Amino acid sequence: MGAKRCIIPLPRTKRARALLCALLAAALLLLLGVLLLGQREPALPPESAALRSAAEGLTGYDLTLRLDPEAGVLTCSQRVDFRNGTGDSLDTLTLRVYLNAFASEETSPAALEEIYDACYPGGFSPGYMELFDVTWQGEAASWRYADTAKTVLEIDVPAIAPGDGGALFLRWAAHIPACAHRTGYADGVWQLGNVVPLLSLYRDGAWRQDEYSPIGDPFVSECADFQVRLVLPDGYVPACTAFLSETAAGVWEGRALASRDFALCVSDRYETARAVAGDTLVSAYAFDKAGARRALDAAKKALETFEGLYGDYPWPAFSVCPVDFPFGGMEYPGLVMLAKGYFAADQRDSMELVLAHETAHQWFYALVGSDQVNDPWQDEALCEWAMLRYVRENYGQGSFDTLRHYRIDLPMQENIPGSLTPGSPIDYFGALADYSAVVYGRGAALLLALDEMLPGGADAFLRAYAEEFAFRFVTRAEFEAYLNGYAQMDLSPLATDYLDTIM
Ligand SMILES: [Zn+2]
Repeated sequence: MGAKRCIIPLPRTKRARALLCALLAAALLLLLGVLLLGQREPALPPESAALRSAAEGLTGYDLTLRLDPEAGVLTCSQRVDFRNGTGDSLDTLTLRVYLNAFASEETSPAALEEIYDACYPGGFSPGYMELFDVTWQGEAASWRYADTAKTVLEIDVPAIAPGDGGALFLRWAAHIPACAHRTGYADGVWQLGNVVPLLSLYRDGAWRQDEYSPIGDPFVSECADFQVRLVLPDGYVPACTAFLSETAAGVWEGRALASRDFALCVSDRYETARAVAGDTLVSAYAFDKAGARRALDAAKKALETFEGLYGDYPWPAFSVCPVDFPFGGMEYPGLVMLAKGYFAADQRDSMELVLAHETAHQWFYALVGSDQVNDPWQDEALCEWAMLRYVRENYGQGSFDTLRHYRIDLPMQENIPGSLTPGSPIDYFGALADYSAVVYGRGAALLLALDEMLPGGADAFLRAYAEEFAFRFVTRAEFEAYLNGYAQMDLSPLATDYLDTIM
């Protein structure tokens, strides 16, 4: 054995040794800093000037939410700073309490025979809302439910003139059903879509009171500003419309400007992957890291593709998370709930397609609102088209043609019973399969026709449409009027042919 050798000869003087130690310590600190910086979570980009300007003067929701998983209850102190932008004087405010539809099998959207067993594997489980305080400007306000399902909450207020406003306050406890649906608890995830009561849509002198149809997404609302504080037990993670940061142990805070809804999923099983795409922080959640990374890649790719096609995604955050439900996905502003099966490694391609459709809803639903009850084609057919366009952008014409065959041509040839057309309202449909073939598939054929007819194709039109109607709610009549102006010809007969003609 040879003698021990020191590679760096130690300095001889005390002072020089001290200097060397200091240098080594500084280098070590620098290295640690670099490592820590490298691992630091990407930060939330600032809200754009366009978003802040769109948010000005909107109704504001201030929510303090607390989830108690043991009790299965989400409680909330909810303040609504209402601005009367309706143009009419109002003596009632109408909010939608969709959760109450889950109280009985007669009204639950999850009790549709086609999906009942998937939604209620353990048998029926009721969900409902308990309301404790309702005040307007600090005074107790009288309220009632206007429908048997108790989803239409009417609150009496002293007349509010156009342009005026005030503060509505509610305190509630949402009892979450054991139900694999967009609202419910299933497989370790609190799937809390449509739980927060929102103002209904006011049009033509009345608040909308649409039934909670089990087929389609029967939700209509205006954009509003949400300020959120969410309290969760240790180990639980939220995926939601806003990006929430943990400001203290178990306290999550953030805001979503100019958003049509506020949805969230909470789980103690979620792993997270994050990256910035453009000016957006993309967060993907899954039950394992690899699944979260696959979802993150797909979400970024969809967001980037559609920003290229339809203009900027205006919010600073976008999230995708797994849920347990018998649908492919469900869109909310800034949040996509995706069926958990897609997070498996061998489902990567299917995940990409479903996520492309759901991400397109950020433009056609979240940014440009439309009547999802009476004109479901106006967001679904557009998103189906956008999904096909995603495929052409990323995988070429051959893949587009193949997918078009399955998603448009076959539905066009299918024998659908009854007098259903893509322009039908959701309550005409009795089966999910018919709804998807007619509204998505046949509806997208209109976009194919427009693509051949319009200068710059359908996408140039959709981009202009998204810019023109950003943060607004657009009727079919307004869509058609804008289309005719854009095309400089009357395309209403074409729209009637594709949307209202029985095949
Ligand atoms: Zn859709």
